[in-house]
Amino acid sequence: MTHGDPAHQGGGHARVDAGDGHLGLDQAFTSAGPAGPAAHAGWEAPPSRKGFFTDTSICIGCKACEVACKEWNGVPQDGIYELLGSSYDNTGALGANTWRHVEFIEQRTPMAGLDTGITIGVPETAVGPDVLVSEDILGSMARSVHDKPLVDLGMPAFDLPSASPDAGERTEFRWLMASNVCKHCTNAGCLDVCPTGALFRTEFGTVVVQDDICNGCGYCVAGCPFGVIDRRIGQKAPLVGHSDKPVTKNAGVAQKCTLCYDRLLDDLTPACAKACPTQSIQFGDVDELRERAEKRVADLQAAGVMGAQLYAEDPEGGVGGAGAFFLLLDEPEVYGFPPDPIVTTADLPRMWKHAGLAAAGLLAAAAAAFLGGRR
Ligand code: SF4
Ligand code: SF4
Ligand code: SF4
Repeated sequence: MTHGDPAHQGGGHARVDAGDGHLGLDQAFTSAGPAGPAAHAGWEAPPSRKGFFTDTSICIGCKACEVACKEWNGVPQDGIYELLGSSYDNTGALGANTWRHVEFIEQRTPMAGLDTGITIGVPETAVGPDVLVSEDILGSMARSVHDKPLVDLGMPAFDLPSASPDAGERTEFRWLMASNVCKHCTNAGCLDVCPTGALFRTEFGTVVVQDDICNGCGYCVAGCPFGVIDRRIGQKAPLVGHSDKPVTKNAGVAQKCTLCYDRLLDDLTPACAKACPTQSIQFGDVDELRERAEKRVADLQAAGVMGAQLYAEDPEGGVGGAGAFFLLLDEPEVYGFPPDPIVTTADLPRMWKHAGLAAAGLLAAAAAAFLGGRR
């Protein structure tokens, strides 16, 4: 079964308009409303909307999700053997051959005044109020440290980073890791501008390309505010006969994450979420995931992680809330995400209205000139 096979669309769910999931201008640029994007696209009694909550705070950068996606969907390799030189990343960005992309962001922040809470050995300078000495962990050993003078055993000892006189000039280093993917937007610019109906809204509320209907025009590439979808580069199969060169599957066709449509139809978890060992990628009903994400942010902030924030989850946001949203530990720009994404077709109804008025004005002027010339 392939996600691009229209024969598999539907999965037992019927569309009211028996259309192709591709809306007319009057419907396409409006909010999906409380019924959700699948009902808005014409699915009758669709199942609950499915999506991802990606909690980047527990991503370990193992790239199991990237590999599982390639494996399940037969996505060609994309720079597997080269590092970029700018980080430990080797795939760089989402694209036609990278439907999941694990970002590695190396970040330096000032260290001054930062108490890491870590102590190695029992250094003389560390015996003070800022040392974490746990009765539970150290027991009688900890008590003996406080009761007796220290004996120098010649062992190396380390100060806390914050105790060093040059701490203000040194920096703390941290990795931010985030597994990026198509957002399966509620208001999806890619779908709005597709002239062939190759992009369609599934009964799960996701956005999927039908490979055999895409004509490779690339409108969707410009229509996505996140830079997700792209056409695959490679040797196309000849219309007749055989190619001397190796042929690339779906060359010239727009490609992106399908949210494993074929697996959803079989009631299976998407491959990337299934492979994630830390549950950084959480799959499920979007409404339930939103509640879970809001609780997780509140917990992190209560624990002092003040940078924790949700991205693309807000139904009032510029894409009407994404089906795949994220918990970030810093501002979206740090991850290369647009800070305030807006569906690229938001202004189209107004533009069409103005174009219509202008055309009507031109027609009226031409008619007046014609009638005036006959007198
Ligand atoms: S993120 Fe881009 S490709 Fe994905 S649904 Fe939204 S507009 Fe389309
Ligand atoms: S949902 Fe499926 S197609 Fe999308 S990134 Fe995960 S494995 Fe790839
Ligand atoms: S599989 Fe999970 S932990 Fe590993 S890189 Fe992907 S999201 Fe991160």
